[in-house]
Amino acid sequence: MSKQYYMPVKIITGANCVTENAALFKALGRKAIIVTGRSSAKENGSLQDILTVLSENGQSYVLFDKVMSNPTVACVYEGAKHAKGSGADFVICAGGGSPMDAGKAIAMLACCDVPRDRLFSGATIERALPMAMIPTTAGTGSEVTQYSVLTNDAASTKTSLSSPVLFPKIAFLDGKYMDHLSVKTTVHTAVDALSHLIEGYLSKRADFVSDALAVEGMRMMTAEFGNLTDFTIDRGDREKLLYASCIGGMVIAQTGTTIVHSMGYSLTYFKGVDHGRANGLLLAEYLRFARKSMPERVDALLGVMGLPTIDAFAGLLHDLLSCCELETVTEEEMRHFASIAVKAKNRVNSVASPTEEEIKEIYSRSLTHLK
Ligand code: NAP
Ligand code: FE
Repeated sequence: MSKQYYMPVKIITGANCVTENAALFKALGRKAIIVTGRSSAKENGSLQDILTVLSENGQSYVLFDKVMSNPTVACVYEGAKHAKGSGADFVICAGGGSPMDAGKAIAMLACCDVPRDRLFSGATIERALPMAMIPTTAGTGSEVTQYSVLTNDAASTKTSLSSPVLFPKIAFLDGKYMDHLSVKTTVHTAVDALSHLIEGYLSKRADFVSDALAVEGMRMMTAEFGNLTDFTIDRGDREKLLYASCIGGMVIAQTGTTIVHSMGYSLTYFKGVDHGRANGLLLAEYLRFARKSMPERVDALLGVMGLPTIDAFAGLLHDLLSCCELETVTEEEMRHFASIAVKAKNRVNSVASPTEEEIKEIYSRSLTHLK
């Protein structure tokens, strides 16, 4: 089976990298649609930095600041209407994975007329406006992926749009925007990044490039575990988490995610669990399952993280995730979630691909084991 690695996003890093690189924004177009969540971009300085740059460049803009967590189809169609109506010819997103993913769908829908009921049909996505991304959480890596993950009410889950044209042109990584990110969001997003690194390492589509990235990303995350557990996080730690998250995105851009993400989507969709937390609740039991068919790979990743056993990994996740009350999910709900996850596209990405019964078992062990 031949493999390829492709990730065409220019990555700019460092303090004040947005305001120091106005020319990169200038090259993207004449009028921006700025896509953000309701409030964080206004509070963390990212929106102000964007406005400073656009003003310096003489570029105009419209603001779409209505993106909610786990963005809906209605939200991205509203954003696209705004983009088209205003004549925006490029997109700037500032926020976590939700505004970045919504921005990608808006960039696509601003140039292609796709009926709402055809959005997840798998039709080829051929065009999108150029995009710049400013991640303000360290978790999703969406700034360097070709995926836009949206809430798909018709299928009661979350579904990804995927196309090479959804790769942003540029990502700006500046840890300063995360100075006031809450403990809960910091930890949950870091666990999402860890999940991308681990799932990517266990993917059938992994190659020597994604492996090298995954190993380095896991090393960077490992160095931050103690700080995350005690929550003694400074700007330097924020930067390292942001870089590890970006590396996680570079990994899944090649490998895709696996059943862990598909299973997590039901915890988010039906129970409102944060995306990264949902993956984190399931990871240890998935590793136990995966170890049966790929012991060398699982032991290798535990070794990279300096953890002797899966039990030690489970203990680490338990400590990290105990920042919130643990969820209650009934047997009947787990069966329902398993029936949804078994149909997900990314189930087959993993060498260890569970059946519906095995998925139910992973839910069951994960959600009782943690208590
Ligand atoms: P998020 O939903 O983007 O943001 C979570 C919360 O954090 C929001 O309340 C947001 O506030 C706030 N926030 C963001 N940045 C902040 C900052 N710097 N300071 C203070 N508060 C801040 O969460 P996320 O975990 O980053 O993204 C999750 C989404 O990404 C999910 O939909 C998931 O499926 C998707 N995802 C995508 C990919 C991909 O490759 N495309 C990969 C993994 C996950 P505001 O709403 O006010 O901004
Ligand atoms: Fe994720």
